[in-house]
Amino acid sequence: MSQKFDVVVIGAGPGGYVAAIKAAQLGLTTACIEKYTDKEGKLALGGTCLNVGCIPSKALLDSSWKFHEAQDGFAIHGINHAGVTMDVAAMVGRKANIVKGLTSGVATLFKANGVTSLQGHGKLLAGKKVELTKPDGSVEVIEAEHVILASGSRPIDIPPAPVDNNVIVDSTGALEFQAVPKRLGVIGAGVIGLELGSVWSRLGAQVTVLEALDTFLMAADTAVSKEALKTLTKQGLDIKLGARVTGSKVNGEEVVVTYTDANGEQTITFDKLIVAVGRRPVTTDLLAADSGVTIDERGFIFVDDQCATSVPGVYAIGDVVRGMMLAHKASEEGIMVAERIKGHKAQMNYDLIPSVIYTHPEIAWVGKTEQALKAEGVEVNVGTFPFAASGRAMAANDTGGFVKVIADAKTDRVLGVHVIGPGAAELVQQGAIGMEFGTSAEDIGMMVFSHPTLSEALHEAALAVNGQAIHIANRKKR
Ligand code: FAD
Ligand code: AMP
Repeated sequence: MSQKFDVVVIGAGPGGYVAAIKAAQLGLTTACIEKYTDKEGKLALGGTCLNVGCIPSKALLDSSWKFHEAQDGFAIHGINHAGVTMDVAAMVGRKANIVKGLTSGVATLFKANGVTSLQGHGKLLAGKKVELTKPDGSVEVIEAEHVILASGSRPIDIPPAPVDNNVIVDSTGALEFQAVPKRLGVIGAGVIGLELGSVWSRLGAQVTVLEALDTFLMAADTAVSKEALKTLTKQGLDIKLGARVTGSKVNGEEVVVTYTDANGEQTITFDKLIVAVGRRPVTTDLLAADSGVTIDERGFIFVDDQCATSVPGVYAIGDVVRGMMLAHKASEEGIMVAERIKGHKAQMNYDLIPSVIYTHPEIAWVGKTEQALKAEGVEVNVGTFPFAASGRAMAANDTGGFVKVIADAKTDRVLGVHVIGPGAAELVQQGAIGMEFGTSAEDIGMMVFSHPTLSEALHEAALAVNGQAIHIANRKKR
């Protein structure tokens, strides 16, 4: 007799594992299928995020920042020490331990919540049946009342720079370097390229980022992207905009990359090259020809606003569907879908998904940019507060960047919070909470903020929207 569940989830990334836990919490019998195994050949839950994405990249970003600080940032505090060295293998090993802890944590959560964990490849058949191909090659067909497709994404390959997992790597390979490359190339100045470029630059690599577009960080507010370009360049990242990679040739342990820019064709040689040109949805062998689920023109599974596919009872969430490729977006979609399956009303606010780039300073935003609002013809008031004027930032010797609050000129409702600076990711979340409840800039300005905190910069930026900042001269007078 085949197994039968209320809910079968395919993929145990932050979309799938959260959906499975939520469904089980709601009293639905739930199974989650995952095929990914770690280097020891063991099933590893958590998807891209825990295994080769958010968490390992942040582990390396934190380690490399500490090294950078130990080298260049301690003397100003009066801490004098010489001969700081970096043990790359130990750094990468620490990262692996964190990954192991978290992925096994998901297995524990599955047990605690009664989610049945199934190892193997899942494929949706017609009639909400799921074919499970187990690691030993045997096949089982599982019946489901509801199916959630959460197969995620994988790095995009580009023909001019095929990944060989030695000299040319993707983001996964860039988390595993065993030594600091002397000359490191990065194709793509997106979030992943900038984060991984920063890691190895802080450890001593000479990093060149080749970006085809002329505009840097197009999705960010222009004031933020300008500041980011200035700061990252000062840190040593050579960011070449308008540089489209057209070819590469690996010669032993180095690669000669060809790119075109405004001056024509150029070549540059690297010891390692990271291809970070984006990610594509994973739908390979996921859907039987007669499953009925449709794919949109960009290769994503087609879903409505609440993640229902074209087949009743089948949902899709996370990186495999439209929208931002972010772990927190995937997880919230997972919760929304589980609630919906249970029959509850559920929706998520796609307008308030925060974005974060974990460079130093961090870059984060929620809501709309000033340029987007202006293009829509919305009149806005803007308040900005630089961390250079923040006592807490000064105490920490971390004064780069600013908080920018954008409010509707007519209603004062906050429409965007943009931060580049220390603690940006956490500060933007405060903006997101306020915006979810329809806060005005005045509301934030009237709240009491602890002193001294970085959060005071948000307070002051909100005050500055209406010309009421205390700790900087107001551009706009009341
Ligand atoms: P995934 O995490 O990709 O999980 C999908 C899972 O499904 C995988 O484990 C896969 O093995 C499995 N699977 C696929 N097909 C099948 C099948 N047929 N049968 C069985 N199993 C299957 N996002 C952030 O929000 N913050 C960050 O800081 C951040 N940093 C990142 C850094 C890097 C280097 C990378 C690469 C990504 C980063 N991301 C970050 C993006 C984030 O990892 C993804 O948005 C997130 O993992 C998507 O979740 P998901 O559940 O949709 O898919
Ligand atoms: P993201 O999608 O945010 O990960 O960013 C990927 C970046 O890679 C985008 O800004 C693209 O413009 C850039 N990109 C894509 N193909 C190339 C290429 N051949 N050469 C240089 N940059 C590229």
